[in-house]
Amino acid sequence: MAFTSEDINVPCLLSTLREWVSIETPSRDGARINALVDLVASRASASGLLVSRSAGQTGCGDLLIVRSRTAGTDTKGLLVLTHLDTVHPVGTLSEHFGWREEEDRIYGPGIYDMKSGAIMALYALELVANTTGENVPSITVMFTPDEEIGSKCSRAAIELEARGAKAALVVEPARDGGKIVVARKGGAIFDVEITGRASHAGTRPLDGRSAIREAAKVVLMLEEMNDVDRGVTVTVGTISGGSARNVVPERCRLEVDVRLPDMAAAEAVIAKILAIKASDPDITIRTEGGLTRPPYAQSVASEALFQQASRLAKPLGITLQGVVSGGGSDGNFTAALGVPTLDGLGADGGGAHTQDEHIIISSIAPRTALLANLLLSACPGNGSEGGGTLYGASAHALRLSKPRRKE
Ligand SMILES: [Zn+2]
Repeated sequence: MAFTSEDINVPCLLSTLREWVSIETPSRDGARINALVDLVASRASASGLLVSRSAGQTGCGDLLIVRSRTAGTDTKGLLVLTHLDTVHPVGTLSEHFGWREEEDRIYGPGIYDMKSGAIMALYALELVANTTGENVPSITVMFTPDEEIGSKCSRAAIELEARGAKAALVVEPARDGGKIVVARKGGAIFDVEITGRASHAGTRPLDGRSAIREAAKVVLMLEEMNDVDRGVTVTVGTISGGSARNVVPERCRLEVDVRLPDMAAAEAVIAKILAIKASDPDITIRTEGGLTRPPYAQSVASEALFQQASRLAKPLGITLQGVVSGGGSDGNFTAALGVPTLDGLGADGGGAHTQDEHIIISSIAPRTALLANLLLSACPGNGSEGGGTLYGASAHALRLSKPRRKE
């Protein structure tokens, strides 16, 4: 059994997407995110899926988990990750950036990153659950409220689900013409606080110790850690300091963004940043920060998953290509736990995080069918079609439909 693009009712999917886009959901507005969670949860319940919802902590929206109703034979399931928050502030919709269709594109805030991926995931799960009857595989779809601000509220729950999963599929948007993401850099952030000594710039300049002059040296030290060939980037994104033109500045503060291809690079670069010392004994440097998302490096298991997805994609007219992304996602958490992970399985489009954000309508049907077939290939009895079973489990084990003991 395999789904085709014809199995996807695109107008129906798009009308739900339009509803979801009409609710603005910036990450820090828990109440608005919960209004969307209400919609997603009631649709999932109406489709006969299991729904659980936990209250958001520290201002986050609620975390919604939707599962297939399995007979309990599939001990390890698939995890699908989506987020309902967007980077766009409330009011974006009314500022000439509402839903707009132009030929094969639809524009709208959050449509590409990633409300389209969220509805595709739910649609694919409904399709598989409705088709496989009592053989439905164990599938969990998480709708998280805070991916765009680093997933502090959701990380523990994501890692808990990932530990019990045989693979993770992330429906973040596709890249550059439909490419999927097979690895992502890790990310670290640092705040560097430099404290010197204030004094009158005209009458007692020698008594002062300029925090800004020290900061200039630190900025150059940090920028020298960039290593393009290795994929390490270090960016001083903001600098602020001083109190008035005629005062030797006492304080200066830097905000630093670091992207890292693997754990070895992460450890080396982070140690180097934390070891930066002041060049003057009268100046102190306090550096706080560290890894926020571990690197999602390519692995043998993820490569096998990519090959399987490529085989399933071909009959749908998709030639799957993988890319390494510099941006992080919740896939970083699952991959770092050793769970085979594929990312960027959502809609094709562009303009993420800008007012050019759009999806390509014609990508919806084949990519939703691909997602459904990926879910389906974990189904008991579906191992022999589409090029074998997924996720390293033996074909024999997956074909058993009777309850079995854990091996
Ligand atoms: Zn996203």
